[in-house]
Amino acid sequence: MKKVDIAVIGAGPAGLQAAISLAEKGYTPVVFEEDPIIGQPIQCGEGISVNGLKDFSIPTSNSSICVRKLESCRLFFASKREVLGDITAYTLNRDAFDQYLAERATDFGATILTSSKVANVIRKKDSLLIKAEGKENLEYECKLLILAEGYKAKIAYSLNFPKPTPLIKAFEYKIKGEWNEKLEFYFDSQKYPSGYCWIFPKEDESNIGIVTYAKERKKRLDKFLKEKKISAKIIGKIGGSIPMHGPVKKLYDKNVMLVGDVAGMVNPIFYGGIRIAMTSGKTAGEIAANYLKDDGKTSLLEYEKKLSEYSFMDKVNLECHNFFYSRSNKFLQKLGKLLEGRFINRIKGWEKIEVLSHLLKYPILYKRMIKLYKMYRGFKIVRDWGF
Ligand SMILES: Cc1cc2nc3c(=O)[nH]c(=O)nc-3n(C[C@H](O)[C@H](O)[C@H](O)COP(=O)(O)OP(=O)(O)OC[C@H]3O[C@@H](n4cnc5c(N)ncnc54)[C@H](O)[C@@H]3O)c2cc1C
Repeated sequence: MKKVDIAVIGAGPAGLQAAISLAEKGYTPVVFEEDPIIGQPIQCGEGISVNGLKDFSIPTSNSSICVRKLESCRLFFASKREVLGDITAYTLNRDAFDQYLAERATDFGATILTSSKVANVIRKKDSLLIKAEGKENLEYECKLLILAEGYKAKIAYSLNFPKPTPLIKAFEYKIKGEWNEKLEFYFDSQKYPSGYCWIFPKEDESNIGIVTYAKERKKRLDKFLKEKKISAKIIGKIGGSIPMHGPVKKLYDKNVMLVGDVAGMVNPIFYGGIRIAMTSGKTAGEIAANYLKDDGKTSLLEYEKKLSEYSFMDKVNLECHNFFYSRSNKFLQKLGKLLEGRFINRIKGWEKIEVLSHLLKYPILYKRMIKLYKMYRGFKIVRDWGF
C-alpha cells in the first residue's frame, strides 16, 4: 500500500484542474482514471465560453484543442423567429482538451493512473483507503480526497454524499460540414421538454444534438435534422447524462471534497459543465493545498464559501430552469416574437423601454414579470457559465 497526501478520482476537467492547482503549489496528487485514454470516449457538445478558456490560460491559438471561435448565437423559441445573443465561445476537440489538461498536471508533478478504476474507498480515522483495479490492483492511503468521478457518483454515494439527481440525457451526432457561423439553440416545450436541440459548428464538421428529459431522443433528433433539411453524412454518435438541477447540497465532508458533475456543478439552463467543473476543481485544489500545508487546520467549509461567490452557485439559476422549462410553447412563441431580431444582451436604455412597452401587449408574459426578470438574470449567467 502506498501513502500519499492527496488523491483525485476521475480525470475529466474537474479532477485534472484540481490536480493542476495542487501540483502548481508543489503537491503531488495521484489521479485515478478508469478509462485507458484521457478524454475518450467523448461525451460532449464541445462548446465553451472564451472566458472558460481565459480563466485557465488555455491557448486558443492551438487549433487542435480550440477548433473554432464563434462570436454569437441564435435562439429559437418554438418558432422560426430568431433571437440573437453576443457570446464569444469556442468549439473544442474535447479529447485533446482533456489530454492537454492531463499533460499540464503531469508536467507540474501530478501522477495520472489510467485504466485504474476505483472500486472502493474506505474511511479510516484520519485518512481514506482507496482500492483500485485495472492493469494491476492498487491500494493507496490518502489524507485528503477530491472526488471528480462525474455524474454516476458511485464512490460519492458510498461515502454518504447525495447523488447529483435528477439527470437529463443528451444524444448527439457529429456530421460532416459546417452548418453555420453561429451557435444555435432550439427550444420547444413539446418536442424537447426541459431541454433543446443544438448546432455547434467546428471545422469541416458540426455537432448536432438534443438534450431532453423526454424519451426517444434519437427519433426526436432525426426529426430535427429532417426539419432543418440537414442530410450531411453522420460521422459519429455520442450520448450521456447530465445533472440538471445544479449543485448538490453537500459539497464536502471531513476530508473529502466533490468537484464537477459529481457535485452537480452544471448550469441548469443550458446544461454546460466544463467551465464550472474546472472552477470547482481549481477552488478545491487551492483549499486542499492550504489544508495540507497547515496539517488539516484549514476547514473544508472554505471550499463551499469560496464557491458561493460565483454566480453559477446562485439559486436564480435553478429558479430560471424551473420557470423556463415549465412554460408552454405559446409562452415561448410570444417571447420569440417580443425579442425577434434583437441581441438580448444589447437591450439597454431606450430599447429596454421599447421592449417593455411591447411586453404589455402580451398578458402571458407581463403577468409573470418577476419570474421573467429572474429568467433574464439566469440567461445572463448562461452567457458566461452556460457552457
Ligand atoms: C452529450 C453531452 C454534451 C455536453 N456538452 C457540453 C458542452 O458543449 N459544453 C459544456 O460545457 N458541457 C457539456 N456537457 C457537460 C460536460 O461534459 C460535463 O459537465 C463535464 O465533462 C464534467 O466534468 P467532470 O470532470 O466533472 O466529469 P467527467 O468529464 O465526466 O469526468 C469524470 C471522469 O471520472 C472517471 N471515473 C468515473 N468513475 C471512476 C472510478 N470509479 N475510478 C476512476 N475513474 C472514474 C470517468 O471515466 C471520467 O473520465 C455535455 C455533457 C454531455 C453528456
